[in-house]
Amino acid sequence: HDAGALGGVRGELLLVEQLRVCLGLDTEADADDHLRAGNLLLHFQPQVRTDDGTVEGAEALVRWQHPDHGLMPPLTFLGLVERHGLMHALTGWVLDEALRVASAWHRDGRGVRVAVNLSATNLANPALPARVSALLHRHHAPVDVLALEITETVAMEGSAGSLAVLREFSEMGLSLSIDDFGTGYSSLGYFRQREFDEVKLDRSFVTGIGTDPRAEAVIVSTIELAHRLGARVVAEGVEDEETLRELTRLGCDLVQGYLHSRPVPAAAFERWCDQRSPSAADDLAEHRVEE
Ligand code: C2E
Ligand code: MG
Ligand code: MG
Ligand code: MG
Repeated sequence: HDAGALGGVRGELLLVEQLRVCLGLDTEADADDHLRAGNLLLHFQPQVRTDDGTVEGAEALVRWQHPDHGLMPPLTFLGLVERHGLMHALTGWVLDEALRVASAWHRDGRGVRVAVNLSATNLANPALPARVSALLHRHHAPVDVLALEITETVAMEGSAGSLAVLREFSEMGLSLSIDDFGTGYSSLGYFRQREFDEVKLDRSFVTGIGTDPRAEAVIVSTIELAHRLGARVVAEGVEDEETLRELTRLGCDLVQGYLHSRPVPAAAFERWCDQRSPSAADDLAEHRVEE
């Protein structure tokens, strides 16, 4: 399902040109080019506490609204982004847009933190922490409105450069999550060397709840280990009530999945939060009047 499949090499080069337009890298682009390229956008998926059901965070997930191919999910174009050296530009765009939304939510008193996914390429960029600082500043956003997700494989690779970048993020006070936990080749030892605030249990384990005792054993041990190290656990891909109940029983801190909501645009996310918790929505309205 890679973008290459959408029309071979020529199709790929056209998509790359269009992505460059979306990212503002093609300075000659005119209105027609923009129309043909479509738009990048972010969808947000809630991360909900198991203890009281409040919405604590939102993961920002990139999409490409393409005039010919429709709403393209990230896995159809991230490979192309990597191959054509556009990952820094894409992540810059995602961070800017995510912080625009996060700072608006912060001003509204929503208290919802936004999580952005980083790739290995991003961690190899020593200029990234300074860029994140500058964006926080530009959006008048405190550091705790942003979290960063790094896949387990990337976190594990641990080149000196990426470790330094991770340490800088940590020192800035950003929350760091290990994404897709359980899918990589992790040695438990690396937990000792690096500070992570959160572990995201991969969906492949979560879907095993109730049917696969081995998946459950991994979940139980991961929760225990994470808690002992002062990190919290988020379960990905929670699709039904029974799974939610079981995860709650096992001590999982947060859940994310279709059960609560699919990833949706920021405005739909806000409506979803307000409907879910009418009293919180009232507080929010009061808060707005006061300002
Ligand atoms: P991820 O970070 O593990 O994100 C979770 C993925 O699981 C999302 O897919 C989300 O839509 C999907 N998901 C959430 N809940 C459920 C559920 O209950 N059931 C099922 N079947 N799926 C669920 P999506 O949006 O297609 O993103 C796929 C991957 O693309 C992400 O996996 C992440 O690795 C990457 N990605 C997305 N946005 C970005 C981005 O801005 N930058 C980078 N570098 N990677 C991104
Ligand atoms: Mg993620
Ligand atoms: Mg994940
Ligand atoms: Mg995953």
